[in-house]
Amino acid sequence: MIPVTKSFLPPIEEYMAQVQRAFTNQWLTNRGELVRELEQKLTDYLELKEARILCMNNGTIPLQIAVKLLGNGGEIITTPFSYVATTAAIVWENCTPVFVDIHPEYLTIDETKIEAAITPRTTCILATHVFGNPCNVEAIEAIAQKHNLKVIYDAAHCFGVKYMGKSIFEYGDVSTCSFHATKIFHTGEGGAIFCKDPDLYHKLFYSHNFGHNGPLEFYGLGINGKISELQAAMGLAVYPYLNVIFDGRKKACENYDKLIDFSYLNKLNIRDETTWNYSYYPVLFESENDLLKVESVLVKNSIFPRRYFFPSLNGLNYVNRCSAPVSESVTKRILCLPLYNDIDIENQIFISECINNTLK
Ligand SMILES: *Cc1c(COP(=O)(O)O)cnc(C)c1O
Repeated sequence: MIPVTKSFLPPIEEYMAQVQRAFTNQWLTNRGELVRELEQKLTDYLELKEARILCMNNGTIPLQIAVKLLGNGGEIITTPFSYVATTAAIVWENCTPVFVDIHPEYLTIDETKIEAAITPRTTCILATHVFGNPCNVEAIEAIAQKHNLKVIYDAAHCFGVKYMGKSIFEYGDVSTCSFHATKIFHTGEGGAIFCKDPDLYHKLFYSHNFGHNGPLEFYGLGINGKISELQAAMGLAVYPYLNVIFDGRKKACENYDKLIDFSYLNKLNIRDETTWNYSYYPVLFESENDLLKVESVLVKNSIFPRRYFFPSLNGLNYVNRCSAPVSESVTKRILCLPLYNDIDIENQIFISECINNTLK
């Protein structure tokens, strides 16, 4: 069986040594030594300059907290081409998603269509850096400044991505990341929020800890978004292998680049000035029919690619339906191929031959 991805598992002794620290400290959550060490290591690794990291219990709660603080119950301009968590966070926080279609090659929100969607009720733009491919952050920032909007980036796929020489997490008012088991860097379940403004960071911080200001006082409304020491233990055990993970994935992507015949399908177009993280290997077919043919051949051979993202989020049954023709077309034609740091070259050859022979 070849799955679409495999969680990186560090040697179990190294994981146990980190867990042992939590046992020795008798400290399991509430920002103990392991969480604080993980945040420091990630700050160094990502070379964060202005933005500060706050680790959380997953990649969805940071989105919800950001929407809660910045959305003000208004309309939020967002992308239909993302994981469902992006839209769900908006609706869950009683804001209204307003979908703007995507760019056909970069697959990120089409910045040229944002202004037409702005109304007096618009409070934020929530866009996703799809598969680690940055949005047009300069254009989005200019629009946000002109219309006095906040910008939140769902950067769940973006661990390690740099744009114009700095971490992609430095862009926007707030960026979020996921450390879910299927993501490039993981803590089993986990995530983080990144923010440059100290006042906003402070609000995000207390919001993720029930609103506490000391044991008996509260700044304001909060929820439980805390990451545990046991999650941080996994992160600290995975951390020394980040270069192994990135190198393996880079090699695997380069193999697909060479092995697949791109006469009948396309690959992702990465924005210039991006240091990419090899987080996914999506291929875009000419038709859904081509995708279905290839998928069925692969599945018959116990190879499980993933239709990601599918469906287009503007069609969910809890949003105001609207049309987003590019996203609807792309979601029907995009397939993420198996990708992990130690994928076997023989398997990549086999997968590529299945694709090439089916489309020929
Ligand atoms: C994975 C993912 C999320 C959710 O992160 P969790 O850690 O699973 O809560 C949100 N947005 C995108 C784009 C994702 O890929």
